[in-house]
Formats: sequence, C-alpha cells, structure tokens
Amino acid sequence: MAYDFDLFVIGAGSGGVRAARFAAGFGAKVAVAESRYLGGTCVNVGCVPKKLLVYGAHFHEDFATSTSFGWHMGTPTFDWPTLIANKNKEIERLNGIYFNLLSKSGVKVLDGHARILDPHTVDVAGTAYSCERILIATGGWPAIPDVPGKEHAISSNEAFFLETLPKRVIVVGGGYIAVEFAGIFHGLGAHTTQLYRGDLFLRGFDDSVRSHLAEELSKKGIDLRFNADIARIDKCGDVLFATLKDGQVLEADCILYATGRRPMLDNLGLENTAVALDEKGFVKVDDLFQTAEPSILALGDVIGRVQLTPVALAEGMAVARRLYQPDQYRPVDYDNIPTAVFSQPSIGTVGLTEAQARKAGHEVKLFESRFRPMKLTLSDNPERIYMKLIVDANTDKVLGCHMVGPEAGEIIQGLGIALKAGATKAMFDDTIGVHPTSAEEFVTMRTAVGQ
Ligand code: FAD
Ligand code: NDP
Repeated sequence: MAYDFDLFVIGAGSGGVRAARFAAGFGAKVAVAESRYLGGTCVNVGCVPKKLLVYGAHFHEDFATSTSFGWHMGTPTFDWPTLIANKNKEIERLNGIYFNLLSKSGVKVLDGHARILDPHTVDVAGTAYSCERILIATGGWPAIPDVPGKEHAISSNEAFFLETLPKRVIVVGGGYIAVEFAGIFHGLGAHTTQLYRGDLFLRGFDDSVRSHLAEELSKKGIDLRFNADIARIDKCGDVLFATLKDGQVLEADCILYATGRRPMLDNLGLENTAVALDEKGFVKVDDLFQTAEPSILALGDVIGRVQLTPVALAEGMAVARRLYQPDQYRPVDYDNIPTAVFSQPSIGTVGLTEAQARKAGHEVKLFESRFRPMKLTLSDNPERIYMKLIVDANTDKVLGCHMVGPEAGEIIQGLGIALKAGATKAMFDDTIGVHPTSAEEFVTMRTAVGQ
C-alpha cells in the first residue's frame, strides 16, 4: 500500500526534529506535526531560555566581584522586561532556524495538534495522513501535585514569561529545575525560598555534591528549607500565602512548582492503538524504541528514561539510522551520560556516585578537593569549589567525576570522554594540567581521602 509518508513524527522537539531530519536525509518521506513551538521544550521553555536567565542572574555576583579588581560603575540596576524580550527574540530566531532545518531536509512541517486515528493514520487539523510508521516524540509537561490553591502557583513554563520579576518567590521541589530557578530568582534580586520535601535535595546526585551545593546556596542567601512542603495556597489581593505542612505560613508574590514532569499524551489517540504505558505512565518501548504497536515508535521525554536533550537527540539519531540507514546504526549507550545542573554554582557530573559505586560492589578509593576559585580570591565572596573522583580500588578505573563550581558543565564534558574511554586514575595523574585553571585539580588529586 502506498502511504502519504514513510514516517510521521509527532512533536518537533529535540528528539522528533533529529529523527525527522535524518530520516529524510536518508531518503524517507517524512512529516512532522507540531502543535506549539518548533524546537520543543529545550528551545522554548527549557535548556536555552533557562541558560540565558542563568547568565542574566550571574551578573549580580560578577558586578560585586569586579569591584575587587578595581572596577566601579555605581549601583547596577536590572530590568526584567528587557531580559525577557531579548530572550524571546533569540527564541524566535531559533524557531526560524528549526523550520529551515526541517524544510531544507525535505521534511513536511504540519502546524497543529496530531491525533492518532489508527496505527497508520494521523489527523492534524482535520486532515488525515496515512503513514507506514508513526514516531511519538511528544515530550513532557510540568506535573504539579494536587495541593489546594495550586491554581495560584506556576510551573517553569510560565516562569519564562512573567511580566515582572516577583519580589518574593517560593520554589517547590528539589530537582534540576527547582535549584536552577532558585538560583535565577535569587541572582536577579528576588527573596527566594526553596522548599524540598526530603532531607536533602537533588536525590540521585552524589551525597557530597548535594551537601556542598546546599551549603553554598545557603551562604548566598537562598532560604533553603528541607523536610518542608506546602499544604495549601491562599491568595489575598496580589499576595500568596503558603501554609506549610508544619503550620508555618510564608508570604510570596510567586510560587513556582518544579516537582517533575509527566509524559505529554493529551488527546494523542493512544486508545486507537496497542501502545502500552509503563507503571509511571510513560510510553513503554523496547531497546529499539518500538512500542507494543508494531508501526509505532517513541523516544525522548515521553518514554521517561533520561530526560535530557542530548539523550533525545541520540535516540532520534538511532531511530532514523536503524529504520533508514541500518549500516550506520548504533544503539544508544546510556552509560556515563555527563550532565550539568545550572545552579549557581553549577554541578557537573559523570559516572557513578559514591553510593552507586559501593552498591554495585566496587571497592572504592575517593579523592576530593575543596578550594576557592582564583577569580574570587581578591574578593570576600566565600564560594568554594568541590571536586570528587571515585576510583575502583582494584582496577584503578575512574568510576565517577563530580564537581560543584563555576563552569562545571564545561569541565565535565571532557571528563565524560575520559570515562567513556575507560580512563584509570593513573591516566588522570599522567595528564598534565592546564594552569591556572580549576579543571587542573581533576588531574592533581593525589591522596585518597577515603575508601
Ligand atoms: P520536547 O522537546 O518536549 O518536544 C515535544 C514536542 O512535541 C513539543 O514541541 C510539543 O509541543 C509537541 N507535541 C506534544 N504533543 C503533540 C501533539 N499531539 N501534536 C503535535 N505536537 C505535539 N535538558 C538538558 O539536556 N539540558 C538542560 O539544561 C535542560 N534544561 C531544561 C530546563 C527546563 C525548564 C526543562 C523543562 C527541561 C530542560 N531540559 C534540559 C530537558 C529537555 O528540555 C528535554 O529532555 C528535551 O526537550 C526532550 O525532548 P523531546 O523531543 O523528548 O520533547
Ligand atoms: P526532577 O524529577 O528532577 O525533580 C522533581 C523534584 O520534585 C524532586 O526533588 C522530587 O522529590 C520533587 N517532587 C516530586 N513530586 C513532589 C510532590 N508531590 N511534592 C513535593 N515535591 C515533589 O524534575 P524537574 O521538574 O526538576 O525536571 C524534570 C527533568 O528535566 C529532570 O529530571 C531533568 O532530566 C530535566 N532537566 C534537565 C536540566 C539540565 O540538564 N540542566 C535542567 C532542567 C530539567 P523527590 O526527589 O523526593 O522525589
């Protein structure tokens, strides 16, 4: 049977665009439907605008540091609407680039919500398109728990478009988004309180990294409250009142929930297919991103594996290659994925945490370093960098590298390659440092601090 398309991609985010472009490049007839914004979460309400706001927020400290180098410029002022307008302009530019990338690759871009009618038919804005295969790349959406008054709270989606910078912000959650936005609001001048329901935020990261970051954020003046959560939110005029579970009441102008993301499956028509979901509601796929319906694949945030843009890109590439250029196919390798949290200071991490290494049965040697960044030594800013290496005591293989400090993401990318290559601690030691940098500390930690 002749179909309208070989591959119909639903969602033009990180994973969908990558799969669509490369599949078309390999000769497939491809369409992509997008209901909201080309480039998806990362470009519009994720990585890109977030990093721009992080840069914006860091000037506050940079101006203060500059005085210790002799610079004086009066009292700096900040204008939120300018930052948001410039950010929006840059994102519009990126939306245009995504459109050109897709259309120049020969992908048919369809503007509108896609709904699956049957395993080989997708409806977009009243037109039904037939296709040999469907790729679900619909991403995720903020999940806000059912707290009374939650309609007064916002998610990260809205945070990027606030008209004014709130004076007092409460951020709820202890994951990537919560610590990043707490840093953004604090850096831009808002009084910021972060509430996390457990003992220590950033569950899943190395414990020393978690506690070091908590100390640094508290030193900077973020009001960090652990074992704390909101029981209800009330609004009186423009002021929000958050009643905590212990009965305390906090006042705020904005309450941001960053409590995880659910798969975006709204009105997708999955009931017309045999696609199955896992216990958390994400689309269930096998190692080839194949769902329970033979003609339907899924990838990216909607499958709930690792919710990072470079992972969605790798998955998109793997799908395009396997289907349309099988001689180039390589499975996605989920080991040693480097990642950064753009908190202030930032976290960079790759490989196992100490707890994971011990749990996996490794006998470990630990190397640690804490020091002041050279850039701050002339100032009274007390921020300290933390670095940690986890090494297998028997094989000498480096199992994990962790850092809290400026440019941690930039530094950890290279260490990701080292870990992929199976580097040993002896190889780290044999590597000559780049001086004077913070990164050189990763090759000069000589004495194990613990086992
Ligand atoms: P998405 O990029 O979400 O794309 C899905 C697309 O599908 C969307 O455009 C959506 O509109 C569209 N869609 C959904 N349903 C339909 C439908 N029925 N019909 C048509 N279109 C539909 N990752 C990093 O690696 N680094 C970071 O710094 C980072 N920062 C982040 C900051 C924030 C605030 C957030 C929320 C996420 C961040 N992420 C970051 C995660 C990253 O954005 C995601 O992992 C990535 O975007 C997932 O790509 P995807 O293709 O799976 O989905
Ligand atoms: P995460 O899953 O990382 O964190 C969610 C946080 O909310 C956790 O601290 C969790 O606590 C807490 N939480 C969950 N449910 C509730 C609840 N009902 N009440 C109170 N607290 C709750 O999600 P995020 O929203 O921060 O980010 C989603 C994903 O996006 C990230 O996991 C990451 O993959 C990606 N991302 C990547 C970034 C980057 O690369 N820099 C930046 C931003 C996002 P607990 O730990 O106790 O479960």
